[in-house]
Amino acid sequence: MACQGDQPSHGRPGYRPPAQVRREVEARHETCVFPTCNQPSHRCDLDHTVPWRPGITCRCNLAPLCRRHHRLKQRHDWKLFQIWPGLLIWVTPSGAWRIVRPDRQ
Ligand SMILES: [Zn+2]
Ligand SMILES: [Zn+2]
Repeated sequence: MACQGDQPSHGRPGYRPPAQVRREVEARHETCVFPTCNQPSHRCDLDHTVPWRPGITCRCNLAPLCRRHHRLKQRHDWKLFQIWPGLLIWVTPSGAWRIVRPDRQ
């Protein structure tokens, strides 16, 4: 069964997502998950929402981000949370929230 983020043990060994996980995450979000960004997900990096180690390589901790927004996420004044596989919340530098839903599950 696909991970819903609540299994006691989940994730794949290693930093690079296997092709099947990549396909799943790209199908879930057709574009970069930054609000209003239209970069197609197959041209994005798969970002570990919680950085790898302790963050895991699993569909509940991966989302496509284009280079530009991958860099932006690494700034400490932006925060990104994945509260459910594919459901993300950005907190902007001014403290506003932006919710990003999956295109489909
Ligand atoms: Zn998982
Ligand atoms: Zn982007």
